Amino acid sequence: MTAIKNQMKLSFMSIPENVPLARVTVAAFASQLDFTLEDLEEIRVAVSEAVSNCIIHGYKNDPNYTVSIICTVFEDVLEISIEDQGVGIEDVSQAMQAAFSTESDRMGLGFTFMQSFMDKLNVESSLNKGTKVTMVKRPLDVAAAALEES
Ligand code: ATP
Ligand code: MG
Repeated sequence: MTAIKNQMKLSFMSIPENVPLARVTVAAFASQLDFTLEDLEEIRVAVSEAVSNCIIHGYKNDPNYTVSIICTVFEDVLEISIEDQGVGIEDVSQAMQAAFSTESDRMGLGFTFMQSFMDKLNVESSLNKGTKVTMVKRPLDVAAAALEES
């Protein structure tokens, strides 16, 4: 198991006003690694999508619940886990398909963004217990990439 270099935890009420707080806080924490501005923007979008899902789907927009985030730096990798204790997802692989949504007015693209913007995405969910989304992103090793190209 790789040693933890740094960690932060953030918990907040399940109201949409806290989505910007979550994305700004995680991006600020992420900036200790060698991410590009584009990477940081991708992290912000992935966090916004995951937190919005907790609030909208997990808690059905009930503000009296808590969304929790844990961000960990392992060596040169950032792991972000975002968790709710809400309704859970009946079929995770179906939910993760592009354009699948249980709400007719939504695009069903949140998981697709998380998947394409992060290096790894894992979703654990139990009905009536909640959902935990874990995402991993590693900054591109510029020196190694240059060496490969030459
Ligand atoms: P969009 O993100 O484009 O607004 P969406 O939220 O429906 O639409 P996804 O974010 O990809 O799309 O999520 C797909 C489906 O997975 C949701 O419609 C919902 O049914 C389920 N889901 C996602 N996150 C959760 C969660 N935290 N708790 C319960 N269900 C969830
Ligand atoms: Mg969504």
